[in-house]
Amino acid sequence: MNNNIVAVYPGSFDPPTKGHLDIISRASKIFPKVIVAITENYNKHHMFNLQERVDMMKESVSNIKNVEVDSFSGLLADYLVKIESFFVIRGLRALSDFEYEFQMALMNRTLNQKIETIFLMPDQIYTFLSSSMIKEIAGLGGDFKNLVPEPVYKRFKIKNNL
Ligand code: ADP
Repeated sequence: MNNNIVAVYPGSFDPPTKGHLDIISRASKIFPKVIVAITENYNKHHMFNLQERVDMMKESVSNIKNVEVDSFSGLLADYLVKIESFFVIRGLRALSDFEYEFQMALMNRTLNQKIETIFLMPDQIYTFLSSSMIKEIAGLGGDFKNLVPEPVYKRFKIKNNL
């Protein structure tokens, strides 16, 4: 039994939403330390660059003591070896997440047997929420203030000259 368990919550967080924050808050109550690890995935077109996503996430979790924000490029499995921590947190919203998450979890374990993925469910009010939905609503001029942390809303306004 390891009492210094560190859990890693990886994702693109483009941008962080209240659904992500819900998962981070739940994980922080289970694990002594949680690292939110933001991916630089060059195949994906991001609205916010890596530095912006890291800054927004740092500001959004500043009130939770045992949460740190980091970033990585390349394979999650390699990042986990680097920081020597093998517990991965992922969020499950609906059945539609399941197949992809199941594949990822088993692929990561194939790459390294030490990797265990733990799934957490958000509050049901966030089960419909995704970063891409936020970008879509924002692009169409809809109100998304209550769906993202305050620092994220501020960045959106600056980026879009609102
Ligand atoms: P990725 O590109 O790795 O899927 P995301 O930032 O989209 O990165 O998501 C990171 C993790 O957070 C994933 O496990 C995803 O299922 C989960 N997630 C995304 N939105 C929500 C939400 N509203 N509630 C709970 N979990 C979520």
